[in-house]
Amino acid sequence: MTGQCPFLKEYKVLRLIENENRVIFRCELGKVLLKPKDLKEKWACGGCSVPYVLESSPCRYLKPGKDFLFRGSSHTFFICELLEIKLESPGEFCKFYCRHYIPL
Ligand code: SF4
Ligand code: SF4
Repeated sequence: MTGQCPFLKEYKVLRLIENENRVIFRCELGKVLLKPKDLKEKWACGGCSVPYVLESSPCRYLKPGKDFLFRGSSHTFFICELLEIKLESPGEFCKFYCRHYIPL
């Protein structure tokens, strides 16, 4: 993840001993809590294609989805609300092959 993901929210700040604080994050899309180190992990934000797709002029009908099956594993997908299909990687298909593409 390079830029900020719109689904990544600060959830809580834990006050630790010795005046240290730890921020707990929440992925609003997958509805899970994430530790700071998780943000770099491939199974969490580090390997997530959602920010890239949202930054690349997605079609207005495309909606991201994310399932965290268990800690350390996730599945990212996109739903086309017009055609009612699931797309794992919408990039090229939407922009170059779909005649319904309308950028946001
Ligand atoms: S897991 Fe993906 S969708 Fe969720 S907050 Fe991280 S980058 Fe965003
Ligand atoms: S470009 Fe086509 S397939 Fe992709 S989200 Fe839009 S309507 Fe659906």
